[in-house]
Amino acid sequence: MTSGRVAANAHIPFLELGRQVDALREELDGAVSSVLDEGRFVLGPRVAEFEQAFADWCGAGYCVGVASGTDALALALQAVGVRSGDEVIVPANTCVPTVAAVESLGATAVLADVDQRTFTLSHESVIATRTERTRAVVPVHLYGFCADVDAIRDAAPGLRVVEDAAQAHGAELRGRRAGTLGDAAAFSFYPTKNLGALGDAGAVVTNNSDVAGRARLLRAYGERERYTSVLSGRNSRLDEVQAAVLLVKLRYLDAWTERRRAIAARYENLLAGRRLTCPVEPDGWRHAWHLYVVRVGDRDEVRRRLASRGIETLVHYPRPMHGHPAYTALAHPGLEKSEQLAREVMSLPLYPELRDDEVESVAFALSEALSE
Ligand SMILES: *Cc1c(COP(=O)(O)O)cnc(C)c1O
Repeated sequence: MTSGRVAANAHIPFLELGRQVDALREELDGAVSSVLDEGRFVLGPRVAEFEQAFADWCGAGYCVGVASGTDALALALQAVGVRSGDEVIVPANTCVPTVAAVESLGATAVLADVDQRTFTLSHESVIATRTERTRAVVPVHLYGFCADVDAIRDAAPGLRVVEDAAQAHGAELRGRRAGTLGDAAAFSFYPTKNLGALGDAGAVVTNNSDVAGRARLLRAYGERERYTSVLSGRNSRLDEVQAAVLLVKLRYLDAWTERRRAIAARYENLLAGRRLTCPVEPDGWRHAWHLYVVRVGDRDEVRRRLASRGIETLVHYPRPMHGHPAYTALAHPGLEKSEQLAREVMSLPLYPELRDDEVESVAFALSEALSE
């Protein structure tokens, strides 16, 4: 490593969203302004245009814009037939919204463990946790890496499969993109995601026209026409300002994903042979690198050493689902891998606007921290 030495006063935050806003400022101003000129603010032409564009980008038949990724997951589950009292299998290594979406329907989340190598839902654990009440399974494409939905489908015939693709815009499994792998998928456009709005937003994506039709009804009180509700729904609408912003940003998403991939490749190269476990990208997978997550036994100490060198890291996630006080009731034996990951994972800065010299500084500081 030549230019990788960290300046004494180095400060590399985990994420600096302002860089993207600065680069797109004029286009974003124009997009917001055009909505103001038009004067339609909810479910108007921009939402329809974005839905078509994002469905096409995913290679899917339909996209239904909603208010958040959590709502997208809840509405997708409801649209594929999950009802109050059903069990839904979700990985223990995920963030709270996955479980919150299930519980918002009155359904019961059942935790399954993850694969040690890919950190995503293990099909063996799905078999072990299935009961006669299980209606659906939610593979979470964590960190931008697709869960092996094909293996999960084979292991769990008859279950509905709803992808949590909140971190996986553009990720691929065996040539198909996230959003097309199950019966339906949920995307989030929270500002820090690979495609982020300027606030909360999300989408249900599916190839099934009936599922899309139901999601479309459910996001607006189940109304087939005004003041005639045919399903028991909610208010979860995507607004025109967010859709206009997302249309601007979608044009950059391929380039941003390529940049994420280049940074990940650089990290892999610079960190080869160090005493940590780097993430994998086996044949047949295309990682979207929402997060670059390494594993190291003395994680908390390594993070402290990095912080003292001005490098900010985060932990996704510091607790398995059943480690949250609100969800201890979901604990059961057989979630050891998720528990171990929560103790060992650490996320390095990775976003499209991160500069090469910063990537090198992070890798250099990490190498030092590991051998201190
Ligand atoms: C962000 C996220 C969600 C929730 O999305 P919101 O838009 O914040 O509601 C759900 N699942 C995963 C894995 C996420 O990363």
